[in-house]
Amino acid sequence: AAVANYSALPQPQTSPEVLYTGLFINNEWHKSKSGQTFATINPTTEQTIAEIQAGDKEDIDIAVKAARSAFKLGSPWRRMDASERGRLLYRLADLMERDQVYLASLETLDNGKPYSMSYNVDLPFSIKNLRYFAGWADKNHGKTIPMDGDFFTYTRHEPVGVCGQIIPWNFPILMMAWKLGPALATGNTIVLKPAEQTSLTALYIAQLVKEAGFPEGVVNVVPGFGGAGAALANHSDVDKVAFTGSTDVGKLIQLASGNTNLKRVTLELGGKSPNIILADSDLDYAVETAHFGLFFNMGQCCCAGSRTFVEDKIYDEFVERSAERAKKRTVGNPFDLNTEQGPQVNEEQMEKILGLIQTGKQQGAKLVAGGSRPEGLPGYFVQPTVFADVQDNMTIAKEEIFGPVQQLIRFKKLDEVIERANNSDYGLAAAVFTKDLDKANYIVGGLRAGTVWVNTYNALAAQAPFGGYKMSGHGRENGEYALSNYTEVKSVIVKVPQKNS
Ligand code: NAD
Repeated sequence: AAVANYSALPQPQTSPEVLYTGLFINNEWHKSKSGQTFATINPTTEQTIAEIQAGDKEDIDIAVKAARSAFKLGSPWRRMDASERGRLLYRLADLMERDQVYLASLETLDNGKPYSMSYNVDLPFSIKNLRYFAGWADKNHGKTIPMDGDFFTYTRHEPVGVCGQIIPWNFPILMMAWKLGPALATGNTIVLKPAEQTSLTALYIAQLVKEAGFPEGVVNVVPGFGGAGAALANHSDVDKVAFTGSTDVGKLIQLASGNTNLKRVTLELGGKSPNIILADSDLDYAVETAHFGLFFNMGQCCCAGSRTFVEDKIYDEFVERSAERAKKRTVGNPFDLNTEQGPQVNEEQMEKILGLIQTGKQQGAKLVAGGSRPEGLPGYFVQPTVFADVQDNMTIAKEEIFGPVQQLIRFKKLDEVIERANNSDYGLAAAVFTKDLDKANYIVGGLRAGTVWVNTYNALAAQAPFGGYKMSGHGRENGEYALSNYTEVKSVIVKVPQKNS
């Protein structure tokens, strides 16, 4: 699956030192105005790792002022060459690479994801993302336009301004990189709020932002709860909010924009992504990839393949092999290099998942693997769980579970499966497994989703846009498309005495 080369892995730091727990504003560390703090918990041991300053509305106001001031005409950031913005981003990427073992260890401590994944997936993908957008800094330009009349007309791609960025806990570093890269490449300033469950790596990276040489106020990081996020979304001096998280909160963000200054909003929300396995596909590969597509990151992926539609002819065999594979999945200490699955991020998520497993059983789905917490382990672990005979109208086939619970659903005909796959409020990702190119192309065209994978799953990269149809959000992150979410286009129309072609 996810490119892990265990023999090349440097040993983790199993007790990485926590260096920063404050609010990062104007390149300095601050306490929260309220004096409140909150605990961040190690989900593997259920022990407190550290107390973090709880930023709220008052602190957000201060951070927004800092970001606004850094965005003033004539400021070092506004005067900086675009290529130099790129150079600072390259430097930030280099610093993250320098500290890769530490950052991957801290991510594993705070989030619970296996270190082999933090080190081999989260960190390299984040670093590559910053480098990709660093390259764009001086290449995202406007056009000259042959407008009717005696005019010289051109467009400028200008930064939107002060951007609020609210990120979730499932990929703390990666989501931070996806947000910082395009915003900084295009010259914006930022107030970022990490998820309360996983603030530690965002705070360490804030210090690296300063070390890289970004001017003060360009990047501000304010840890805190949803209230701090709401303060950003409702702030009238914030020009844009980019949010990744639940669909419910996404709606609140959009409402907040409408109720205040119509700030730009981009949303990357939930999913219930269909993964369609045709009978002609390589069965071993399809079983393994569907397993990876769901269980990767403890199932805590917005694009998890959480509705696996399997063609009738191979359904029983597919169920048997998927259950076998799930039972073999190694669950345990995420610092152990052989661990495939660590704990869920917190108790609340674990309880929600266990509740949905109960609902699945009550509604008549057939449990063929897992179904409870593993015995004898502290921490918020959930066994790799597989349900067969899942029907489209069951709760587990409709709601985002965000946990290690696979739904195997039977189908007979192509047109039928496309319709059923699309019968969801979500439209983030989808996949199809087949050796028949015509069928693959037909299904690709029919699916209403922002990403469609063919004979693969979870293949993501800085170059390829990512985002949702329908209630999975709007706007695209990654790739050239992401730049338009962080720029305003200005038409400049200059009267000239005489135009010539
Ligand atoms: P959430 O949407 O509540 O939290 C995401 C971020 O939004 C956090 O930083 C949080 O502090 C902030 N937030 C919370 N309330 C806010 C508000 N009113 N205004 C502004 N910001 C606010 O997600 P959660 O509670 O951590 O997880 C709940 C569910 O969301 C999960 O079970 C999963 O289904 C989904 N989720 C999706 C993603 C994704 O990548 N799309 C990531 C995490 C969770």
